[in-house]
Amino acid sequence: MRIDVVTIFPELLEGPLGTSIIGRAVEGGLVEFGVHDIRIHGLGRHRSVDDYPYGGGAGMVMRPEPLFAAIQPLRTAGATVVLMDPAGERLTDQLARALAGSSHLALVCGRYEGVDERVRTLVDREVSIGDYVLTGGELPALVLIDTVVRLVPGVIAEASHEGDSFASGLLEYPQYTRPEVFEGLPVPPVLLSGHHGEVDRWRRREALRRTLERRPDLLDTADLSDADQATLAKLRRTSMADPPR
Ligand code: SAM
Repeated sequence: MRIDVVTIFPELLEGPLGTSIIGRAVEGGLVEFGVHDIRIHGLGRHRSVDDYPYGGGAGMVMRPEPLFAAIQPLRTAGATVVLMDPAGERLTDQLARALAGSSHLALVCGRYEGVDERVRTLVDREVSIGDYVLTGGELPALVLIDTVVRLVPGVIAEASHEGDSFASGLLEYPQYTRPEVFEGLPVPPVLLSGHHGEVDRWRRREALRRTLERRPDLLDTADLSDADQATLAKLRRTSMADPPR
């Protein structure tokens, strides 16, 4: 997979794209990044990339010429050009999986009050990472990259992300590691039992419990068996404040 990022702050991308799982994916040849500085297409002696908004108002707007010059060469066959924008479709696990299926993403990072409206004609999708506004598109682009790259085959074990929250439509069950008792808090005995069937059943029940308590909206679309529905009915009848056993 190739991911290009179009930005006026290339230095913001350097550390995260070379570190940890993403860095290893690059070293292993699974993902390749290109970071493109919009400013090299800036106008005039000062390489200006922004200007005052027509109609007046606060702040500056990114001019179309430098952005067009930076984005046009990336619009090759098979590329998906994505504008990071608060007005875009919300980034979800489902969208991340769809984007992970693309062999080439080009992410466009806005700054200031955003991009000149005409830049939207060059993009295939617009993506928001949530209902809040950041100062620029670089952190949103990194969030998108992180969630997409971990889904690229070979980057992490498939079993590892298939069980994660949202992948199955539910939140993940509680996780424990050593020690068996910490500050008087024991690990649920079933997890020490070595009985895989019981562990699986416990995990499914606790995933259902957690989802019911924290994100009941997810249950409307989750793929639930008859056994899951029976477990949920039981959980609804009993106190949802019970700690997992
Ligand atoms: N004036 C814009 C608005 O109200 O929608 C906000 C502009 S914001 C300060 C500057 C840039 O940050 C945007 O062009 C976009 O690239 C990025 N950005 C900010 N919040 C974002 C979000 N929630 N998701 C994706 N990108 C975001």
